[in-house]
Amino acid sequence: ADARLPELNQQRIAVYLRLRPVPRPSGRVLTGAEDGWVEFNVPKDTSQGLINNSRESYRFAFDGLLPPAAGQAEVFERVALPVLHSALDGYNGTVFAFGQTGSGKTFTISGGTERYADRGLIPRALSTLFSEAARRTDHTWVVHVSYMEIYCESGFDLLEPNREVQALEDLPKDASRAANWRQCMGWSPVCVGKRIYPLLLTQVHVLEDDDARLHIRNLSLHRCDTEEQALNMLFLGDTNRVVAETPLNLASSRSHCVFTVHIEARRSGEAVVRRSKLNFVDLAGSERVVKTGMSASMQLREAKYINLSLHFLEQVIISLHEKRLHVPYRNSMLTQVLRDSLGGNTRTVMVAAVAPESQHIEESISTCRFAQRVA
Ligand code: ADP
Ligand code: MG
Repeated sequence: ADARLPELNQQRIAVYLRLRPVPRPSGRVLTGAEDGWVEFNVPKDTSQGLINNSRESYRFAFDGLLPPAAGQAEVFERVALPVLHSALDGYNGTVFAFGQTGSGKTFTISGGTERYADRGLIPRALSTLFSEAARRTDHTWVVHVSYMEIYCESGFDLLEPNREVQALEDLPKDASRAANWRQCMGWSPVCVGKRIYPLLLTQVHVLEDDDARLHIRNLSLHRCDTEEQALNMLFLGDTNRVVAETPLNLASSRSHCVFTVHIEARRSGEAVVRRSKLNFVDLAGSERVVKTGMSASMQLREAKYINLSLHFLEQVIISLHEKRLHVPYRNSMLTQVLRDSLGGNTRTVMVAAVAPESQHIEESISTCRFAQRVA
């Protein structure tokens, strides 16, 4: 963003807890939830046979609670609208979704696919962006979007499948080799019928120039003059994300996806262009155990990368809060990509997504702990 912008007064990340609805009635452990806090009551470990029917209570406070009944419009207004308005004013911003697989991250960021009302934060932000741009006629606006995926510290452009590369005939049949292909060569194996075909997503690289400015090499930017054009790009990227997924590798849960809206505003009659970026980040599932058909070694490898990158994200956020001189951006691709959109004069929001069923209690508590540490 422009250095001459007045200081935003956001000191810390705003963290919202979102509870997804429970499809079927089940033993719920969540006992209290009101705006600003949740409480989990967990049966005490009775393995020593000491205490029966005794429960332990865990309470977490947040900037806001989004209960199961909160609709997508409400979530947009509370979570993303302030970030969007800052972006229109020239400030970079980031909206994260964090949580275990199945907790509602993608539903929050992109939305559900069945009902119009289920549109998530990205389509709603795009809609408001273009209507605001049309209303603010004192500026000329240029909007580009980009969409990338980070899998095991490798970046892929979700909007630029490399169609020059032909499908190979001899693809590895076993799971671990298929997953390795994606990792090592940038191939995303695709299941078509019983065969696996690869779809090459262009690999992107993060580079820093001599002035420590960041460039993402090979990441395509797509100019969008209308909401529809931008939505088409989102749809294309989401399709590539799903197509690149196999039953062996639920890539969308194991990778971070970053949808970025690049906004340029030029005041009529002036030459200076004000640039800002708005990132929507659907983080990889934070769960400890990966239950896919992959080989154990590949699962471990993925889990290691995910845990590390979430850990480095936390370290960067905490370093920014504590105004440390050294912010360890370089430790992971995600923090490098978001470098100019985290901390400093930017606006950042995180939605911690929680699946309230009792079998998820441990992950829910660990999600809340993470959220509490970065808040
Ligand atoms: P994640 O991306 O965290 O793995 P998803 O967003 O895919 O989780 O959500 C898991 C399932 O729950 C999906 O079928 C999704 O449509 C549904 N879901 C999640 N949040 C909500 C919500 N707030 N309202 C209705 N359905 C939801
Ligand atoms: Mg998801």
